[in-house]
Amino acid sequence: RFIALEGGEGAGKSTQARLLADALRDRGLEVVTTREPGGTAGAEAIRALLLGLDGDGWNPRAEALLFAAARSDHVERLILPAVTRGAWVICDRFVDSSRAYQGGGGGLSDDDVMELHRIGSQGLLPDLTLLIEVRPEVADARLSARDGDVSDRIGGRPAEFHARVAAAFARFAAEQPERFALIDGNNDAGATHRAILSAIKPLT
Ligand code: C5P
Repeated sequence: RFIALEGGEGAGKSTQARLLADALRDRGLEVVTTREPGGTAGAEAIRALLLGLDGDGWNPRAEALLFAAARSDHVERLILPAVTRGAWVICDRFVDSSRAYQGGGGGLSDDDVMELHRIGSQGLLPDLTLLIEVRPEVADARLSARDGDVSDRIGGRPAEFHARVAAAFARFAAEQPERFALIDGNNDAGATHRAILSAIKPLT
């Protein structure tokens, strides 16, 4: 099984990935948790290139190419082998983040993002994508509580950028309801976790 967690920054994806992995392990299942950009040595090196750039950062097209390259290594060396041996893979972000950030936010067409994904990763899609939705003020409060550490973020993006990202995510979920589950992430982590457990029930 291959599950992706998606949503904007401050949605609680990493916390929920951990809680879901623990719950599945308690049931005796093999679980691999991973994240994008990253997950393999090469992909983590590309993560450093993506997140470490000051100033104007990358242009959205170069950014999309780097994400696609990182994902290619991640899929071939970590995700597919784990899924093939029967493990559950829980991935913090996947191609829908590229569609939302480099596409919806950065202005690339969805066809271009998906074409890069086809070339890099055979167009692999998760069995289920958990889209954690939070109101902007909830996300902002969580981000400022993270003791001001912005070293793991691509910065310099205005609120309108993040609004386009959120709208793009919602559009993808509406277009492919069979692949997406909408999760309300505005409440505490326990409530969100319970919503996720109900959403994955059909896969267990
Ligand atoms: O998932 P995480 O919040 O750690 O992502 C790190 C940074 O990379 C964030 O700033 C996120 O918005 C950005 N990102 C992006 N495009 C993607 C995936 C992540 O801009 N496709």
